[in-house]
Amino acid sequence: MGDRYGTIVAETPFHPLDHTWPDQPADEGTIGGLAVVDCVTGAVEEGGETVHLGADIPVRRGTPGWNWLVVHVTDGPVPGREVELAVDEARRRALSAGHTACHLTALALNAALAGRWRKEIPADGLGHPDFDQTAITSSRILPDGSQDVYRLGKSLRRKGFTAEGLAEDLPGIAQRVNDRLKEWIAADAPVWIDSPGSELTARRTWHCGLPEGEVAIPCGGTHLSRTSRLGSVTATLELSGDGSELTMHTTVG
Ligand SMILES: [Zn+2]
Repeated sequence: MGDRYGTIVAETPFHPLDHTWPDQPADEGTIGGLAVVDCVTGAVEEGGETVHLGADIPVRRGTPGWNWLVVHVTDGPVPGREVELAVDEARRRALSAGHTACHLTALALNAALAGRWRKEIPADGLGHPDFDQTAITSSRILPDGSQDVYRLGKSLRRKGFTAEGLAEDLPGIAQRVNDRLKEWIAADAPVWIDSPGSELTARRTWHCGLPEGEVAIPCGGTHLSRTSRLGSVTATLELSGDGSELTMHTTVG
C-alpha cells in the first residue's frame, strides 16, 4: 500500500467513523477532486502537533484541552488551500435510511419482547423494558439496512429476561416487530437530531415523534427526516445454535 494522506478542513459535510461505537460507516466522496478512501475521527491536543487517529486517540471523547476532527484520507496530497468536498449522496441516503430503520426496529423489538421480563429494568422512550440497550453487543449500519447482535447470556437472565421458548416464539416476535414498523412508517412520523453544539463531540440525540409518544436515543449518526421516507422495513430474527446470541437483520425497501 502506498502513502496515505489525511486532510483536515474548517468545515466538512463528511460523516467520519466513530471508533468508540463504530455503528455507522464513514461517508465516501471526494475532496479537491480526489477520492476520499476513508474518513476517520482524529484528535489533537491544544497546542499539540500530532493528530491521533481512531483507536490511537489516547483520551476519552470530549476531554477538555483536546479537539476532535474529521480526517479525510486520500491516496495523494490534496492540492490548494481551498477545496470542494462532495459526499456520495446516494450512499449517505442509504446509510441514513439504514440508521433510522435500526432505531425503529430496536424500539419495536423492545415492545415485542416486553412480556419476557420478570424484573424491572430501565425502560425505553415508549415505556417498554429496554432489551436493546441492555443486551446489545454490536450494531452495524449498512446501506439500506442494519445488523444488531444481542447477547442472551447469564447476566441478561439474572436481570430478569426469560429466554425459554424463544426459538419457538421467534416467528411471532418478528411478526409483531414488522407489524409495528408498518404502523410507524404509515404514521409518517417526524425524525430529527438535537445537538447542543456543532462540534464533533457534541452529545447528539435522535428523536422520533411516534404515535405512542416522542422517543429520544443518544446517537451520533445520520438519519432520514420522516419515517415514511423508509418506504418499507423488514426485520428478521436469528438465534444462534446454542441460543446465546440473537441477531436482528433489518432491510429497508
Ligand atoms: Zn444511532
